[in-house]
Amino acid sequence: MKADIVTIFPDFFRGPLDYGITRRAQELGLATIQVHDLREFTHDRHRTVDDRPFGGGEGMVLKPEPLFECLESFDLASRDERLARRVRQSVILLSAQGQPFTQKVATELASLDRIVLVCGRYEGVDERVTDHLADRELSIGDYVLSGGEMAAVVIVEAVMRLLPGAVGNEASTQQESFTVDTKVKGPGGADSTCGSNGLLDYPHYTRPAEFRGIAVPDALMSGNHEEIRRWRRQRALEKTLRNRPDLLEGAALSEEDNKFLAAVVKERMERGRS
Ligand code: SAH
Repeated sequence: MKADIVTIFPDFFRGPLDYGITRRAQELGLATIQVHDLREFTHDRHRTVDDRPFGGGEGMVLKPEPLFECLESFDLASRDERLARRVRQSVILLSAQGQPFTQKVATELASLDRIVLVCGRYEGVDERVTDHLADRELSIGDYVLSGGEMAAVVIVEAVMRLLPGAVGNEASTQQESFTVDTKVKGPGGADSTCGSNGLLDYPHYTRPAEFRGIAVPDALMSGNHEEIRRWRRQRALEKTLRNRPDLLEGAALSEEDNKFLAAVVKERMERGRS
């Protein structure tokens, strides 16, 4: 995969992309990341990339010309071909107004040959970039950052770790929070693995078995695979119910899972009443 990042702060990316799995993916030749300085695509002495908004108001807006020229230098397929999915390329504008970037979107992007990430700054980007240059707008959360650079790092990291071979043990990326394992069909997935299947991940422990008087849960020490599986599944269900109940709707739940959740809810209600 090739990832191109377009930014007015290219030096920002020295560091964040040079560690861990993102670095490994590049060293193994699974991914190439190229950072492009938007100012290289200006033609005036001041290398101007922004201008005042039409209609008045606060702040500055990134001008369309440098962004169009920059992307045109990339030799991408046309926007129509990209949108029709005739090629495995996507031009993404980072934006607080974008669709939410989720693990599902990360998986989708990991299957492409090329992603281009356009980082906005100031009040944002001339809307003609959104409508005629980018294929989609993505947001990394419901808050406003000062620029798209952090968001680009988040997306690159989430996507690169999904490239086959990037993480030493591939199964580990299939059992994580949010991951819906499409290879395991129906509620069978919920029984057959302790993988998340749309839930949050289960808790992890390592040595020492007892730390400052706090012991690792017995079930994990039992050596009984069925008991470990059930314990992990139940903790994942509990945590999802507590922190992200919205995820339960889309999760593949077995009859055993539903019974367990019903019992937890009942217990909570009883505790609330007493
Ligand atoms: N005026 C805009 C915010 C501009 S912030 C608004 O109210 O929606 C400047 C730039 O930061 C944006 O162009 C975008 O590229 C980036 N940015 C800010 N918040 C973001 C988020 N949650 N996700 C992705 N990019 C974001």
